[in-house]
Amino acid sequence: MPAYGFYRELTMEQTMEKVDVLIEAGYLKTELSGKLPMIVFIVYGWTVQRERRAEELLREWENWLDQGITPVSMEYLKDRNRGMILMFLFKVLCSGDRKYIPFLQQWQPIEFRKVQAEIRQVIADLNECERLGEMEWHELLRERAQSLIVRSRDPVILMCQECDGPFVFDHLDFSCYRADGIYFPEKCGHCRNTEDGIRE
Ligand SMILES: [Zn+2]
Repeated sequence: MPAYGFYRELTMEQTMEKVDVLIEAGYLKTELSGKLPMIVFIVYGWTVQRERRAEELLREWENWLDQGITPVSMEYLKDRNRGMILMFLFKVLCSGDRKYIPFLQQWQPIEFRKVQAEIRQVIADLNECERLGEMEWHELLRERAQSLIVRSRDPVILMCQECDGPFVFDHLDFSCYRADGIYFPEKCGHCRNTEDGIRE
């Protein structure tokens, strides 16, 4: 699990200080595994897993399209974790590729009403994509992230590489979801803003 390498660069003392701060703030829980207290990043794992599963589903569709396979049924997508399925839809949308529309159309009728509505919207957006300029498309993705990316109930805490402070990952920051995976920001919002200010 990638989270375990997280404090690699710090001394043990520094690490424990940070961990204490996070535990106090309620962001981490410790578990006793054998004799060693193990730090569990509860939600960080799920955030990464959800993104990977959604990515796998998208890759599967791509393979089927490449090989000219039409799936017999889309039933396998039903009753999956809602947050993961919506993330999958978001990834389909981000591709901006109309080739997925036939699969979306096949999927839509078997879904529950709320997901159905989201699928219909993604189909409409993909049809619009070509007409939109880059800025407009970006704006559309930002907007659609609000309904397609479900915030985790618990925050994902990252450490800023600039100021060393902990900060909360914004699940709706869609620029972190790229074609080949999720990229957590390296710096907190404050340090990023300061940097932008200097650059301008
Ligand atoms: Zn910072």
